[in-house]
This record gives sequence, C-alpha cells and structure tokens, in this order.
Amino acid sequence: MKYVSTRGDAPRLGFEDVTLAGLAADGGLYVPEAWPHFSPSEIAALRGLSYADTAVAVMRPFIGSAIDDADLKALCETAYGRFSHAAVTPLKQLDHQQWLLELFHGPTLAFKDVALQLLGLLFERFLAKRDTHLTVIGATSGDTGSAAIDALAGRAKVDIFMLHPLGRVSDVQRRQMTTVLAPNVHNIAIEGSFDDAQALVKAMFADRDFASRFNLSAVNSINWARLMAQIVYYFYAAVRLGAPDREVGFSVPTGNFGDVFAGYVAAKMGLPVAKLIVATNVNDILHRALSAGDYSVGTVSPTAAPSMDIQVSSNFERLLFDLHGRDGVALAAAMHGFEATKRLELAPAMRAAAAGLFASARIDADAMQLAMRWACDRAGEVIDPHTAIGLAAAQSANLPADVPIVTLATAHPAKFADAVERATGIRPSLPARIGGLFDRTERYATLPAEIGAIEAFVAEQAGVAA
Ligand SMILES: *Cc1c(COP(=O)(O)O)cnc(C)c1O
Repeated sequence: MKYVSTRGDAPRLGFEDVTLAGLAADGGLYVPEAWPHFSPSEIAALRGLSYADTAVAVMRPFIGSAIDDADLKALCETAYGRFSHAAVTPLKQLDHQQWLLELFHGPTLAFKDVALQLLGLLFERFLAKRDTHLTVIGATSGDTGSAAIDALAGRAKVDIFMLHPLGRVSDVQRRQMTTVLAPNVHNIAIEGSFDDAQALVKAMFADRDFASRFNLSAVNSINWARLMAQIVYYFYAAVRLGAPDREVGFSVPTGNFGDVFAGYVAAKMGLPVAKLIVATNVNDILHRALSAGDYSVGTVSPTAAPSMDIQVSSNFERLLFDLHGRDGVALAAAMHGFEATKRLELAPAMRAAAAGLFASARIDADAMQLAMRWACDRAGEVIDPHTAIGLAAAQSANLPADVPIVTLATAHPAKFADAVERATGIRPSLPARIGGLFDRTERYATLPAEIGAIEAFVAEQAGVAA
C-alpha cells in the first residue's frame, strides 16, 4: 500500500514512512492511494474474533509488507493488553435502538489510547531500525496529550513536546500529562486556545529548517496510523450487531474529524454503515459544513466537552480530498484559500455526495445534560459530556427503528467528574489504577502563543534526555 498527500505535491510513501512523518511535506495529509475493500464474506469471517485478531485483519491491507502477521499480532496484543476490559471496546445496550461503544478502558481513560498505544509501539519498532532521533510535537485539547505521553514516555530515541491551552483542559486531563516526569516528556501550556496550539504545531512543521533539524513527527490525528487503528472498532462493533447482514449507524462526538473519518474509511471498505452522525457541540463548524456547506471558522467557545472545542478540523481535509475527486491540485488551491480567508464553501454537488453517508447535529449544553440524565435514569449508565453529545445526536437522528445506532463513548465519565455531577448528581470516581493523580508532582512550562518562544524551548530541550 502506498500513500499520497491530499495536496498532491509530496512524495508517495509506504506505511513505515507515513507513520513516522505525520504531516506531508506539501502541508497535506497522507491517505491510502486507494481504499481496500472487504467482501461480505470477509466481514462475516471477523465474527467471534478477539479485538487483537480483528485489528490484525482490518489493518492488514494498510500495512502491507511493513510488518508480518505474527509481529503485527504481537504488537496488537501488547497494545490492547493494557486495556482494563477483556473486550477492549465493549458494547453496552441502552434501549431497543441505542448502544454505547465504550472506547475508554485504556490507560488514560479516553478513546485516543486505542490508537496511540499501538502508535507508540510502531514508533519504537520503526525507529529501532534507523539511526534517527524523533521529536514528536503535538497540540491537545485534552485527551490526545495524555494518551500520547503514556504511549511514548521513557521510549528510546524519541522526545515528546505536548502543547495544551492554558486553563482550558480539565484538572484530571492536565495532571494526566504533567505528572509524567519521564525526561523525554515535555509539557507546554500555551497562553491561547487549542486552535492557537494547533496552529503553532503546524507552523513548526512548515518551518522546514526547524522541522528537519529536529526530525519532527506528529501524533495528532493527522497521523495516518492513528486513524487506521480507529477503523478497527467500527468493524468490531458492527459485526457484533449483525454486519454484514445488517446496517449499523454510528454517532461520533467530533472535534478534529479523526474518529468519524475512521468510520468513513470503514464504510469505504465495505462495512454496511447506515449513517455516520457527526455530533458537534456549539463549536459547530462541521455541522455547518455538512448541513449548509459553510466551512468557516468561528470563535471557540469553551464547553463542558473541551476535546471538541475546535473550529478547524484538520482531518476534514481528508474527506474534502475524496469530495474533490482526489484531485490534490484542486484541493491544495481550496485549502490555501481557506487558510487565507478562514472560509470554504462546499459546492452543492459535494454536499450532496457527503449527505449520502453523513448526517450532523449541533448539541447545546441543555441537550447534552438531558442526554446525560436520560442515560443515567433510563439505562443506568453514567456517561461523560462528549459521549452525551453523541447520544443526543443519535437520539435525534431519525434512523429506521431496525437500524441499531452505536454512540462512541469517547471518555470515561470520571475525566469530567464536575460536569457529570452537575447534570446527574452523581460524582463518578476515577478507577483505582489512575488513583493518586492529585498527589503527584506536576512539571510543565507556560509559554506565549508565539512560534519563536516555542521553537526556542524545543531546541533547548530536545534530545537532552538522550
Ligand atoms: C479527541 C476527542 C474527541 C474528538 O475526536 P476527533 O477525532 O478529534 O474528532 C471526542 N471526545 C473525546 C473524549 C476526545 O478525547
């Protein structure tokens, strides 16, 4: 399998290079040259497989000869062996139609562990063969940071610099990052929003001299290997609910369009997905784009679901690439226009093409709280604010009653205990394995949202531990 950039002007790369590179050299994102396809009988053959075996089967076509079957299976067993539930991503039934897919049983209690535990192992494996030191730079609205830090802390030949918006992540989220004191872990609180942090990361990659001097790499969901690992649980859940003989809908609480893009890939691969419901909070750029063609940047309002407080959704570019007929030159022009004007209009034909698979909803604070209370009172499930946004969108989606709808439960409720308690009166407690978070020492730097200051800090710290 070869990968091409969405902007059509970067070298075609194999899986290993794409994994280590993150962003493409032309500013685009890597996507497979063609979508692999599973026949109904190949999907039926996934019935009864463990999560790790499902992962091997689903990821196989994307990895090709870069890793053989036995090694891939060992990597998946190591990555998913760190999850606290034997099903890795268990399904829970809420009513006759609504289901939850719990993706938060990994070490840092959010769905990002599913991809990043594997990515950490892939980095280690690919770097071991090379004489290179990698500097991973990321921006986090909360959960990516802790999941990436957990996956990379203490690993050889790699430093990780994680930018988070000062004061805009929860205490649990911050402490999950800043109490990891491994010398290759560097946390930076940015005086700005998540979008500012993400823009700084992009600017560092665009600074070619800097990027090549420090061998920058990304673990944000712009990294293809992360999205690939997320495709697996769509198959795992749908097969358990009757695929390939029955269609299944998914509702996905969305920020950077990564998780839901993985669902799109699953559908492209032949999984019978009835609808992908893109659930946003009041930071609704994706809902406006899909419902009205208006992909324009608003100002970010902080909400109780901070991992979705995003106004520029990096991975939307991957969908736009397909909607532009995979014409990288045309998309590069459109994206340069977007970067200059902060707006992009989806042509009616593109909107219509997207509407075949995607629906969307904007869920405000009241609707989110109602969904939390409904889950608690009617199904005995305490859910976090992100999951509640997904559930509220699922309940308003009007899919036929015989189509099960799976809401991706993206975070453990204890990560957002204050918001959960406000809505339900119940204060969820952190699992014992996370306990002690509030007794540990924190370490982080606070820096202005200025590229010069960040680059100077990286230059001073990168590789110091090595
Ligand atoms: C990251 C995150 C999201 C959004 O996922 P994207 O892939 O960025 O769309 C939703 N919920 C939680 C809890 C998250 O951590």
